Order: sequence, then structure tokens, then C-alpha cells
Amino acid sequence: MVRIVVAGCSYGGLRCLLNLRKLFPEAELVGIDPSPYHVNITGFPKYFAGEVHHMELLLPLQEFLAKHHIEYLQEEVTGLSPQSKHIYTSKRRMDYDYLVLAFGASHKQIPTATTGLFSPYTLQEVKELRSYLEKHIYQGKPIQAVVVGAGLAGIEWSCALAAYLKDKGTVTILERSTQILTGYSDKIRAYVRKILAEKKIQVKLGVNVQKIQHPSITLDKGKIPFTTVLLFAGVQNHPLVDKLNLEHNEKGILVKNTLQTPTYSNVFCVGDVVSLANNLTQPIKRATSALIQGKIAAENIAHHYARENLQNYEVHEMPLGIYLGTHEGLVHYKGLQYTGWLAWWSKKWREMHYL
Ligand SMILES: Cc1cc2nc3c(=O)[nH]c(=O)nc-3n(C[C@H](O)[C@H](O)[C@H](O)COP(=O)(O)OP(=O)(O)OC[C@H]3O[C@@H](n4cnc5c(N)ncnc54)[C@H](O)[C@@H]3O)c2cc1C
Repeated sequence: MVRIVVAGCSYGGLRCLLNLRKLFPEAELVGIDPSPYHVNITGFPKYFAGEVHHMELLLPLQEFLAKHHIEYLQEEVTGLSPQSKHIYTSKRRMDYDYLVLAFGASHKQIPTATTGLFSPYTLQEVKELRSYLEKHIYQGKPIQAVVVGAGLAGIEWSCALAAYLKDKGTVTILERSTQILTGYSDKIRAYVRKILAEKKIQVKLGVNVQKIQHPSITLDKGKIPFTTVLLFAGVQNHPLVDKLNLEHNEKGILVKNTLQTPTYSNVFCVGDVVSLANNLTQPIKRATSALIQGKIAAENIAHHYARENLQNYEVHEMPLGIYLGTHEGLVHYKGLQYTGWLAWWSKKWREMHYL
């Protein structure tokens, strides 16, 4: 019986496992993840704004995978011998016929630790941010919230902060580039700027953060005071990437367009861990890209097993949904754009039904 192991059970890994189950009803499928839950991180801003309960963001892996007859190991992958087809975890050595690496990327860490500084990438961190702000609000202190980075996460979090604070504080976005949402269209940027202005969220472009030390941020020109700073400094390779004896660069593990590693045709990668070897255009590191890649990797494993031609993953425009506060959002796909309550609702619905 064929044994397929998937390392990392989040958007890309879970999508892959579910598709593999359909394509290989009899195969031995194993999902490995140190976390007992898949956490729907894209819903964090809505959770913070009080629009969803934290239980709606958690998918218990043991229970979910068992329903699909997939074995789940709550373990951490620590190494790999691709020549002998062995993967190592914190507890064991396992063999595999096919392996899918879907353990994501790491968020860039903050070099300085200071009061009021948060990177809300875990539910725990979001809860800590909330209790920190509640404490200040109860003391009657006005909140000065600063978000560093005007990418997708920075914009969504600014709107979540504005929805949470209402008249109890201000929100300012600092961005090094001369525009918000670099890489997105002018039409998207124009609408988002309009909403930010309506919510009185201040945007400072072309500014470099030099130092964050409570109670102020030092910029290249001047200082701004803060109660809290949320830092979205982007992603970097997961530390495991260096340990797997696979070709990689600063964007992730190198794969061909079939999502196979160049040297080992039975090792596939999906999601934030992917770096396309022969492409100038890299996929945007988003949950939507991970989901598509998870599906294609599963189909390509079936093709490879049946000795058929494999399909290529093409980087193309994905539907974009942006949360812009309670009952406010933007959805853009293939030139079509809609906004307001419908966009807010459809993004929320999509996030609850992506698997
Ligand atoms: C605040 C925020 C908002 C976002 N909003 C959006 C959005 O609206 N839309 C969108 O498309 N994208 C969004 N993204 C990006 C999206 O979250 C990522 O692109 C997506 O999570 C990548 O999915 P993945 O499957 O590659 O892996 P990840 O989601 O990064 O998960 C990796 C999994 O691997 C596991 N793992 C880690 N180490 C090991 C190991 N050693 N062994 C085994 N397993 C391991 C982890 O526990 C985890 O379950 C957002 C990101 C952030 C931070």
C-alpha cells in the first residue's frame, strides 16, 4: 500500500491530504503537525474586532483527520533523508513513498522587546494584545495604536484596531514604501485609502522605523508616541528549511512547476515553503496560493504514481479579499471588484469554508 506523509497540517497540507484521500481511497495517509489545532490565522483581525469567537478559528486536527481516515501525529518534523525516503520527527523515524512539505514560513522576529509591542501571529499573542489594551482603556488612558507595515496584514489589523477602539484611541500606519499594498492595483489601493480616511486611520508613507522603545517610535525624521505597536515585518524561511538536505534559497525550498523538488520526484512542497526554481514570478505567500498548490500536489502525486504526465502550477491572479472593519471589505478578482457588507460577508464565508 502506498504511504504518503504530509508535514504541516495548515491550509496547504490539509487541502493536499483531503484531495489525496479522494484520489487514493486505500492509501496510508499521515499528517504530522506539532499543533493540535489548525488555526485559521486569516480570521485573527475579525476575532480581535469581536466578530468571531476564537473556537471558530480552531480546527482540532485529530478529530478532523480521523473523519477522513487519515492518521494524525502531533509531532514536529526535525529532519529528512530523501535518498532513503525517511523523515524524522521529534519521536520517530518514518518511511514514505511520497512526501509533501507544507510547514509554512516563519514570521520575521522583532529584534527589540519593549512594552506594548506585539506581533499577533498566534491566538495567545492576540489575547495578550487585547488584555493590554483593556487595561489601558479601564485606566481611562487614550490609546495610540501604531501599525508598522501597510501590506495585507497591516491594513486588516489597522481596521480591526479602529473597530475595537472606536472613540477610545487613534490608529496610525507607518510604511517604508511610498504606497500601501505594494503589488496590488491602483483601483484596490484607491478604495482602501478612502476607507482608511473615513475611519480616520492616519497613513504615513516613506518612513523608516529606526527604533521602537516605549513610549515612542524613532523614525528617520522625528518620533511618534505609542501605547501599542503591531509589527508586520514579513516572512522568512522556516528554520527547518536549512536542515532537510534539499536545495533552497531565501524564498523557500526550490521546486519545479510540478511542485516536485528538482532532485527527488517523490518529494513535493506546497504553501509558504515553496520557492519556484524556474520562475521569475513567485507565488504570493497567501492561504489561497497554499490551497491551490495543495490540490495540484495531490493530483500530481496521483499522476506520478500512475506514470502519467504531471501538470504545472502556474502563478496567476487569485481572488483577493480584504477585511476593512466590521461589515466593510473589498473583493477583487479578474478586474471585478465589489466592496462593503457583501465583500465583508463573502470573505468571512470563504474563510469558514475553505477546506
Ligand atoms: C495576520 C495575517 C493575515 C493573513 N490574511 C490572509 C488572507 O486574508 N488571505 C490569505 O490568502 N492569506 C493571508 N495570510 C497569509 C496566510 O496565513 C499564509 O500564506 C498561509 O497560512 C500559509 O499556509 P501554509 O499551508 O503554507 O502554512 P502555515 O499556515 O504557515 O502553517 C504551517 C503549518 O506547519 C506546521 N509546522 C510548523 N513547523 C513544523 C514542523 N517542524 N513539523 C511539522 N509541522 C510543522 C505549523 O504548526 C502549521 O500548522 C495572512 C497572514 C497573516 C499573518
